[in-house]
Amino acid sequence: MKRSIYSLTLADWEDFVVTNGERKFRAGQIFDWLYVKQVASFEEMKNVPKALLELIENVYDFTSFEVVKHQEATDGTHKFLFRLADGNTIETVLMKQSYGLSICVTTQIGCRIGCSFCASTIGGLVRNLEAGEIVGQIVHVGRAIGERIGHVVVMGIGEPFENYDAVSAFLNIINDNKGLNIGARHITVSTSGLVPKIYEFADEHKQVSLAISLHAANDNLRSKIMKINRAYPLAELMKAVKYYMKATNRRITFEYILMKDVNDLEEHAYQLAKLVKGMNCHINLIPMNPVAELGVSRSDKKQVLKFKEVLEREKVNVTIRREMGANIDAACGQLRASEK
Ligand code: SAH
Repeated sequence: MKRSIYSLTLADWEDFVVTNGERKFRAGQIFDWLYVKQVASFEEMKNVPKALLELIENVYDFTSFEVVKHQEATDGTHKFLFRLADGNTIETVLMKQSYGLSICVTTQIGCRIGCSFCASTIGGLVRNLEAGEIVGQIVHVGRAIGERIGHVVVMGIGEPFENYDAVSAFLNIINDNKGLNIGARHITVSTSGLVPKIYEFADEHKQVSLAISLHAANDNLRSKIMKINRAYPLAELMKAVKYYMKATNRRITFEYILMKDVNDLEEHAYQLAKLVKGMNCHINLIPMNPVAELGVSRSDKKQVLKFKEVLEREKVNVTIRREMGANIDAACGQLRASEK
């Protein structure tokens, strides 16, 4: 199978054209066709020499992104089910926020992290996406909607830090001001807590926002609902988070899904407040979205507010995530890699 045409950074394109005996500026022309003019075929790249196009075509392809399903929720959220070149399917979500359009991209086909509350992990991991298949989600959704997408959250199917190199290239490609030009500060990557990669990310992507899926502030409980905590317990995770904050000078977000009688009691809120005390952080409380097979239910509204109150009393910066796309199963944790 050929690689996706969207897999290369501008620097990679420069290497490619120079290696093939062409002048460096050709890379900029290609980049412009792909991300500014957003053509869908090689024939449209009018100012690129035929011989060079042939060389590109030998290796790269406008990856097939067949829209199998496109749903729009009552709140304006869109969900796309794409079929990729090898037949696998992925979901991508577009949200209408007050500040503009925000896209939630998928980084893997399935996921092997195995969190007890998440639909994306049910069938295990099939394969990593390549950078171009992550970039392609933005290009194809943008084209279908006909509007510019200015914000990105890497919170779809998969654990982005298990596919670190592709995600890292993806960030460089979409951030390039000669291409899609999506501001680094308008991009958030969310991880379940792959500690070694948090250090790499802090060193390499200082302007990109980081969110940590925390969901419990004590090791016993966290190891029960998120197996990854057995490999990287809270002390190590918090050490990495502090490194990120020091290296980047940025505020960090902790996501905390509220699950009825699992992690939503007052004592859990106090544990959480204690864990993050004094940190420049923000807690995003997420009412658990139902996943039929998993048998975990969401906290009552009253309990959610109580939990939030405890955190506020403890002077922790906290908000409740606005729910979007629930009526089309497009909400957090509901995305899947299989066709429904
Ligand atoms: N693997 C990464 C990114 C994808 S998940 C991560 O874990 O951060 C994006 C967010 O949705 C995470 O915070 C995840 O914990 C959350 N999520 C998973 N299942 C959910 C569910 N059923 N309801 C609400 N949020 C869920």
